[in-house]
Amino acid sequence: MTTEPRLRIAMQKSGRLSDDTQALLKKCGLKLNVSDRRLLAHVTNLPIDIMRVRSSDIPGLVMDGVCDLGIVGDNTLEETALERELMGQKHQYIRTSGLNFGGCRLSIAMPEGFNYQGIQSLDGLRFATTYPQLLNRFAKANGINIDFCLLKGSVEVAPRVGLADGICDLVSTGATLEANGLVEVEEIFKSKASLIQTATSLSPEKQNILDTLLPRIQGVMKAKE
Ligand code: ATP
Repeated sequence: MTTEPRLRIAMQKSGRLSDDTQALLKKCGLKLNVSDRRLLAHVTNLPIDIMRVRSSDIPGLVMDGVCDLGIVGDNTLEETALERELMGQKHQYIRTSGLNFGGCRLSIAMPEGFNYQGIQSLDGLRFATTYPQLLNRFAKANGINIDFCLLKGSVEVAPRVGLADGICDLVSTGATLEANGLVEVEEIFKSKASLIQTATSLSPEKQNILDTLLPRIQGVMKAKE
């Protein structure tokens, strides 16, 4: 018995992108069981499987060809690509479509009262961040030397507890920064969610499924504009 090839799409299991991603797939007419707690959810009306994982795992799964497509923030994508490039690992992918949700910016923020006179004021300081590669690229491009400590969450408390001089973190409204006595001084990366595709060419069957899905995604995005 031969099994029909199924297009595998990685999406965030739970978090800031998961509701919008699920809504997009639904609007594209994909029927999937939202209460499905399994890692791999079957779409019942098209040969598509949805792999629900952590956002930070999505770029690697697509770059390694484990998933054909992924929906992920550009921040996570770029950070992973830079990290993998540095490690000599596969980091190629195709950015198939920009999506109009998940908007945010990666910014440097300093404690209120810090005398910020421009990028040079950050030279020699230490930053808490989840995005060391993007921060390092910014520092190199601007000719400053910085140190960092890697934190996966609660980045904004780092200056208060003496772990870092400032932070480099994702911001959307700025309310979290304000609540933690921090002031945004430099935006270093603008991000939105993107649909990405493996750089390895798809089988004709999978390409056909993508050719059905992509115009639907683009139609939903256009209707939202
Ligand atoms: P995961 O836990 O799934 O590995 P995560 O910790 O990045 O990922 P979330 O905090 O849910 O999870 O963020 C997912 C993505 O949502 C971010 O990578 C970013 O692209 C987007 N995003 C939009 N606005 C914000 C914001 N204000 N703060 C953080 N992320 C945001």
